[in-house]
Amino acid sequence: MNIILLGPPGAGKGTQARHLVETRNMVQLSTGDMLREAKDSGTEMGNLVADVMARGDLVTDEIVIGLIREKLEDTTDHGGFIFDGFPRTLMQATALGELLEATGKPLDHVIQLGVDDEALVARISGRSTCGNCGEVYHDVTKPQPADGKCEKCGASDFKRRADDNEESLRNRLMEYYKKTSPLLGYYYAHNMLTRVDGLADIKEVQDSISKVLDA
Ligand code: AMP
Repeated sequence: MNIILLGPPGAGKGTQARHLVETRNMVQLSTGDMLREAKDSGTEMGNLVADVMARGDLVTDEIVIGLIREKLEDTTDHGGFIFDGFPRTLMQATALGELLEATGKPLDHVIQLGVDDEALVARISGRSTCGNCGEVYHDVTKPQPADGKCEKCGASDFKRRADDNEESLRNRLMEYYKKTSPLLGYYYAHNMLTRVDGLADIKEVQDSISKVLDA
């Protein structure tokens, strides 16, 4: 089963994707993670996108489509793909449709995580992750453990994303509404879209997504 998680920054796409990886042997394809890796390892492409990402702008369709194409070709033997943060434009959506068709894989569901902007600002401004296993923490709702060790893996290397600040977030939201939200209409018209309440607690969102996937 192959699915897209669609929603603005901070909607919980990464958190829900991680749960699906753990419970269903699915593979998370996050273009944001791929770009951050390229940036951290200082590749030519990584250097090219660093400023664009810091501002909260979208990187070019060519770059992200190329990243996804490579992963789709290289990854085998699993319970399906979760596209997280991709597609973000109509051109990316069309390219994904073509790539999946060429490899004989269906797109089964597009799940919209619905949230409101106020909640996003609060969520994103307190966000941090474990640098080792990716477990997500939040200053208010899920603080880092008092002993300074990740509750999942025990590492003590917590990270905050450079683009999790208010100015960049505002820009990321604007990009979402201008370029990504038209995908809601696109997938609705293809009869693939289901909306779940992204503001419910994490477990409830997990259950809502499971219901969609198991229907
Ligand atoms: P994310 O981790 O999904 O929030 O992505 C972080 C940043 O990476 C975004 O603000 C964009 O600058 C860039 N990015 C990630 N995925 C895409 C995409 N599909 N298209 C364009 N830019 C992307």
